[in-house]
Amino acid sequence: MRKEKRAEEREMQRLSQGEYFREMPETKINIRKAILTVITAAVLLSATFLYIIQLLSQTNRRETEVYMDELSEQYVSIVDRQMEGELHILSGIGAFIDSHISEEDIYEVLKTENQKNDFLRIGYADRNYQGFYINENGQLIENVDFSAYDFVRSAMEGKQTVSQVYEDVYGPKNIICFAVPVYGGGEISGVLTASNTVDFFSELINRPIFQGKGGTIMISPDGMVFAGNQEEEKQNNFLENNQFPDGEKEKIQAGMAQGEDMDISFQRNGKSYIAAMRSLAYNGWYLVCMVPVEKVNDEFRAAFFLFLAAALVLVILFSVLICYIHHITHKSRKMLNRVAYYDSLTGSYNRNGFDVAAKELLLKNQDYALALFDVHNFKFINYSFGKEAGNALLKYISKVMGEMLRADEVFYHRHADCFGMLIHTRDKEILEARAKGIMKKISEYQVGGGDENYPIYCYCGITVLQMFSETPDLDRMVDRANMAKSTVKGFQGNQLAFYDEKIYWEAERRNRIEQKMEAAFANREFQVYIQPKYDLKSEKVCAGEALVRWISKEGVMSPAEFIPVFEQNGFIVRLDMYMLEEVCRLQKKWQESGHKIYPISLNQSRLAFYQKNYVELVMNIINRFGVRPENIILEITESMAADDSKVVESVTNRLREAGVGVSMDDFGSGYSSLNLLRDLSIDELKLDRGFLMQTEHEKRNLDIMSSILQMAAKLNIRTVCEGVETPEHVNILKEMGCDVAQGFYYSAPIPAVEFEAIAF
Ligand code: C2E
Ligand code: MG
Ligand code: MG
Repeated sequence: MRKEKRAEEREMQRLSQGEYFREMPETKINIRKAILTVITAAVLLSATFLYIIQLLSQTNRRETEVYMDELSEQYVSIVDRQMEGELHILSGIGAFIDSHISEEDIYEVLKTENQKNDFLRIGYADRNYQGFYINENGQLIENVDFSAYDFVRSAMEGKQTVSQVYEDVYGPKNIICFAVPVYGGGEISGVLTASNTVDFFSELINRPIFQGKGGTIMISPDGMVFAGNQEEEKQNNFLENNQFPDGEKEKIQAGMAQGEDMDISFQRNGKSYIAAMRSLAYNGWYLVCMVPVEKVNDEFRAAFFLFLAAALVLVILFSVLICYIHHITHKSRKMLNRVAYYDSLTGSYNRNGFDVAAKELLLKNQDYALALFDVHNFKFINYSFGKEAGNALLKYISKVMGEMLRADEVFYHRHADCFGMLIHTRDKEILEARAKGIMKKISEYQVGGGDENYPIYCYCGITVLQMFSETPDLDRMVDRANMAKSTVKGFQGNQLAFYDEKIYWEAERRNRIEQKMEAAFANREFQVYIQPKYDLKSEKVCAGEALVRWISKEGVMSPAEFIPVFEQNGFIVRLDMYMLEEVCRLQKKWQESGHKIYPISLNQSRLAFYQKNYVELVMNIINRFGVRPENIILEITESMAADDSKVVESVTNRLREAGVGVSMDDFGSGYSSLNLLRDLSIDELKLDRGFLMQTEHEKRNLDIMSSILQMAAKLNIRTVCEGVETPEHVNILKEMGCDVAQGFYYSAPIPAVEFEAIAF
């Protein structure tokens, strides 16, 4: 409900701001939807990619673990073998010493052996732990007391031992010592020892792993690092310096106590590491191979971020592209919309726009009527005031329509000076008031900027919506409003007509006439009848009036039925010229057969008379048949002369100069102005039959008639009276001094042959 109300308010606001039309419905590209789709696609793609990366990185981690396992196994075997080897060499030397028991000899042997092997130092202790060392360079260190060294003591008990790490008393480096017992006569006679720098062992495990990011170290059971390929690791406590997950450290310590191999993980300086711990053969030592986890995933992460960045750039690019395309299509659609649905001059709807908007309204509600408005003589306004003035008027009408428009109504500029409005009611009184209101407002307009006071009047046809099927038929409404409108065309002032059945049948009749007229013309169904005119003095035929008859298989049709239709569709021009030709042909025939030639009058329609080259056309025909112009009398009606006396005056003058007679027909039927007689130079005045027909104010009528006849006589204009039906009529006319009589009293209009029979 609230939504509807808001829509209504918006509509009212638009109308008040002079926007009379709604936006045409258009299939909008949902830009948000499009961008959302792109983003969703990008997110899905990224998620898939992330998942793949995760999988790859897991695989990679497993492979890393396998690699570290293999590597550490290799290192363990290298280190273990090295130590075993050292002990083995020592044992070999010890066996050799056994047979050369004197200390001098021992010294010599060891000196030689030391040169063969790459020990840092080699030494001998007797059972009292007294002895000597020989350095790498063969230098002798005498009187060494070995009693403080556990590993020597242990060897003295018969074990082959590897020592803990010692600070070297003779040098700057840490060392590891090896010791084996020496036997003499089946008894342990002393101990042979040798030492090597810790660096020597570090060298063994020095292969860089993971481009130097990983490391390999050797630790003692308490966690102290004593060898390794990374300087900073040395002299640290592996277990103390790293953070292990809760309880993990204890587990590691317990595992180490058991000599178990372990795969562990830990944190150092915020970085995660994985490590393989492998037990070495001596002293509870462990070899640890480690690598930062980050390193493992680094490449994948880099690839992922690269992809993410690419996806982001693509999303942005696509979004910009979509926005751009949307902008372009929206603009061009708007332009097309304008051209297709709006009138370029007034900015209001054109037929197409109205069709769409009106049908939309009619589907929602059937309480509607259609009013079509036209301006009287719009062509004349264009012609006299210029096209600019005409356009300004149309814009003004459009503005008035917009201002008079209510919610849920539309209007349009149909064509030329025709506007239409769909009015939201079926109530005739309201409709009449609204249409009149619109026309009154339009009439306030001053054409040409208001200097000249030319009155603007409209005529309007209205039809209320009638449902013939499920869907309202807008085309039929337009037809009906048009029919109603055409019934009031040409009347003075603002005019309004509602469509009804009568109008429908009238339109039907007109339609039938229009459909048949061309064929009838070709078949010469239009024939000349002549009504004789009688000279009142001699009571003899003195002239005739040509009147058209439409004679078809269906019978004779009176001009009163079809002339108004032809006058509206312009066909009358052809008919009038045709009648002139036929009359000329007739007179030519009379001329050739030596008969008297009677002047014949011809009715001239407004449209024929107003043709630009009218006089030339008439003269061409007359000259073509070679008849005398004096015998052709052209009848113009009083109303024609009253409408635009300037044009009529000039044409009449030119006709008369060419010798053609001019007669004013139906004088006294409208608002006759005696000025006409003053301004127009005519040969004949035909008094309307109304003068003789009227009985009510008979006396007054006849007085007027008498004065007109007198005045005409003074002006030297021949007078003819129409509708003479009785002998009384004849008498009155004779008394009044009328020249000629025409009417049923003498003869009805008759075919030419019959006229000839009477006249000759
Ligand atoms: P109009 O020119 O005033 O012609 C006289 C009309 O009065 C004729 O009607 C004629 O039949 C009728 N009439 C003649 N005598 C009497 C009478 O005593 N009593 C009565 N009641 N009527 C009489 P019609 O032939 O039906 O023509 C009607 C009108 O149609 C003509 O009026 C004329 O304006 C027009 N018309 C006829 N033929 C033509 C034509 O070829 N071209 C044009 N433009 N108009 C024509
Ligand atoms: Mg006439
Ligand atoms: Mg007449």
